[in-house]
Amino acid sequence: MSGSDPGAVAEVAVIGGSGFYAFLEDPEEHMMDTPYGAPSAPVAVGSVAGRRVAFLPRHGARHEFPPHRINYRANLWALRSLGVRQVLAPCAVGGLRDEVAPGDVVVPDQLVDRTSRRIPSYVEAGAVHLPFADPYCPRLSATVAAADPSVTAGGVLVVIEGPRFSTRAESRHYAAQGWTLIGMTGHPEAALARELRQCYSAVALVTDMDAGVETGSGVSQAEVFALFARNIERLKGLLTTAIGRLPDPDGCSCSTWADGIDLTYEIPGD
Ligand SMILES: [Zn+2]
Repeated sequence: MSGSDPGAVAEVAVIGGSGFYAFLEDPEEHMMDTPYGAPSAPVAVGSVAGRRVAFLPRHGARHEFPPHRINYRANLWALRSLGVRQVLAPCAVGGLRDEVAPGDVVVPDQLVDRTSRRIPSYVEAGAVHLPFADPYCPRLSATVAAADPSVTAGGVLVVIEGPRFSTRAESRHYAAQGWTLIGMTGHPEAALARELRQCYSAVALVTDMDAGVETGSGVSQAEVFALFARNIERLKGLLTTAIGRLPDPDGCSCSTWADGIDLTYEIPGD
């Protein structure tokens, strides 16, 4: 694996909601295509804290892709082909347990995959088995968690297929497992980033408590979007601080796991 690539258009990426466009200084748009199809939107590249940062709206520029219809493989591959080796992934999640509350920002350290109809891998032939015991980059996650004293470090994110929210019984079941957060986009995004030898950290904003955890009518989409909008500036500040302090990705286990392995898929620029 080479060191920082002087030909890279961007080193760091943020995959998030469209409200994040504003935090890129002088963004330029890159229309992209990949062997897996087009990503959710053109990739915007600009400067943040002295780094070249790519921004991709996960759900599309007009929020046209629901979680189960996002082309996750195209999104990560497009970013990697621009040179990105570190990915910060803000997402909206529900809280499952009392230790989190709406408005909290959590950097999870574990993931449970409960999706069912997504293509979770670039591996389509041969024996390539991704190490995923620790699904998030520990160095990147620690940097994000240290960027703001209000951030909660650690937690288990269960990722469901969606697009519907959970039933009360499902949500009580997830909470009873000890899982902390519930979302719809964290998988396969984290696994695909690892396959492309990228460091990846989720940055989860708790927008509501999940249906079975709270009395009342359960989650509404309006309250999720409203809380996310109120917290965008705070998330931008947190990400900007973290981007200014990111560790060198060279030598990280997110990349070195593939040393000596005959990968059966192409990593652009590798
Ligand atoms: Zn890493």
